[in-house]
Amino acid sequence: MIEISDLIYTWQNHAHPTLQIKHLQVNDGEKVFLHGPSGSGKSTLLGLLTGTTPIQHGSVSVLGQSLAKLSGTKRDRFRADHIGTIFQNFNLLPYLSPLENVTLGCEFSPRRTKRACDERGQVVAQAHYLLNALGLDDNLLSRSVSELSIGQQQRVAAARAFIGQPEVIIADEPTSALDADTREAFIATLFGQAEKYQATVIFVSHDNSLSHLFDRKISLPSINEASQ
Ligand code: ADP
Ligand code: MG
Repeated sequence: MIEISDLIYTWQNHAHPTLQIKHLQVNDGEKVFLHGPSGSGKSTLLGLLTGTTPIQHGSVSVLGQSLAKLSGTKRDRFRADHIGTIFQNFNLLPYLSPLENVTLGCEFSPRRTKRACDERGQVVAQAHYLLNALGLDDNLLSRSVSELSIGQQQRVAAARAFIGQPEVIIADEPTSALDADTREAFIATLFGQAEKYQATVIFVSHDNSLSHLFDRKISLPSINEASQ
């Protein structure tokens, strides 16, 4: 599913690599908790896994596709088709409604559009279904997202990641603004959606207290030779 070998990544103007990872494999349907202190390279690694950042050395393959072999445009397309991302600050468009934000998850991917339509006839119907399933009531769905609470915005971001069933769901510290109970409830909701179609989940956090909920826990510093 996801395989990393001999990965080395150095940011411009940095004297030393941020990441140096010999090998990492994540299986289909696995739910992985990736943790490490702030600044340890978690977001850098996610950028490489999602194809946002070009590979400098070594290989990263996702669903059997080697990302280093794709052009920037092809990586963008690959990401739109296969990877749903939940960002720390959610990256929602504030002037759009929850429904409009979620349908955007299919915007650049005919493949995800087709999957959403196969499930519920229309993309907007699937967006509606997911928002309800993630706990947002109908009366919130056509407001502007800027009127929603942080917890509600997070559910919108999750629905946008899941629409069209991307094989990989990546979450970069999406719970840091929530209290402990709400965090666990959010992860349970996330897993409920992922298990429906065996999505692989990579969840990043500096907060180790959530790790017991996952199939596997990986400490980034322990696999990153650049930090040793
Ligand atoms: P984490 O997500 O674990 O907090 P990051 O991956 O954001 O860590 O950062 C790891 C290191 O990479 C830090 O030293 C940071 O300064 C550097 N870094 C991250 N993003 C950039 C960037 N866009 N340009 C230059 N350096 C960066
Ligand atoms: Mg980060």
